Amino acid sequence: ADSDVADEAVRSTCDDASICKRFATSQGYWTDPYIQYFVRQMGERKAPEINRGYYARVQGMSHLLDAFLKRTQCDCQVVNLGAGLDTTFWRLKVCLNYKLIVVFLYHFCRTKPPLSKPLIETHSADSLLLDGHNLDSDRYCIIGADLRDISSLEEKLRKFQIITELPTLFLSECVLVYMTPEQSSRLVHWVANTFHTAMFINYEQVNMADRFGQVMIENLQSRQCNLAGVDVCQSLDSQERFLLTGWESVNALDMMAVYGLLPQEDISRIERLEFLDEKELLHQLLQHYSICWAVKDTLSLGISQIGF
Ligand code: SAM
Repeated sequence: ADSDVADEAVRSTCDDASICKRFATSQGYWTDPYIQYFVRQMGERKAPEINRGYYARVQGMSHLLDAFLKRTQCDCQVVNLGAGLDTTFWRLKVCLNYKLIVVFLYHFCRTKPPLSKPLIETHSADSLLLDGHNLDSDRYCIIGADLRDISSLEEKLRKFQIITELPTLFLSECVLVYMTPEQSSRLVHWVANTFHTAMFINYEQVNMADRFGQVMIENLQSRQCNLAGVDVCQSLDSQERFLLTGWESVNALDMMAVYGLLPQEDISRIERLEFLDEKELLHQLLQHYSICWAVKDTLSLGISQIGF
């Protein structure tokens, strides 16, 4: 029962992420017309550094995702691991010839017409199968799966007819931290062994050994989350998880660096949205998160050149 409580606490973390994203979009940091269907309440006002942090997270992930779609000309699959209430699929429905698989339980589609409409429109088969845990269609599939259980995940993906020869992008945004380093290594290893041409983009906490990191950890722990994957020593150098597990190349940047590499015109725009008194707070926050991307390019599509 203790582990049920911890799992439930982990599942509920996606509410926080989406509430913060919704708030930031309401302030004009970026546009997401779909998020309102996932998160009804706006929540209380978030500090400007939090909004800027989410902006960097969403733009950083989108930048790499868009680059992958461009290199593969959308002839690819996208697997969003621990997707929570992520709206990526709806943002990308312009890309016609692709699959997005959200590997997580989620139950909004049928009841919310603005969400199910674009799904049905882009599907040749207009039947969406929804059985409480899984939603399945030609292009889009929602699978309820525990990422710690690779064999069951594999079986579920096979059922959806995922093609291991097709270039496949795996996204994990604040997900691996909830698994032990062994469990996340196994997942990352399985992807590299199973998919011929793949990219894995991982956004997560780093540099947690200092006081700021400790506060972040205590904050999550106070909500009974099982933070099995928090390795206080994990820094950008410790991405062996990817190198030791069959990927050809791996890159990692902390979010301070990413923030400096995002289009500066847009940065100037968002920095005018809200006054930020303490720049130091933003810097500290950004230094404690990172984006890491690993590539395996059997088809020589040039995806190893993707970066900022
Ligand atoms: N990726 C989303 C985002 O960034 O908006 C949600 C992030 S939320 C902080 C963490 C998500 O990871 C939750 O939706 C949780 O259910 C999922 N998660 C954590 N451990 C998982 C596991 N073992 N199997 C499946 N999902 C998991």
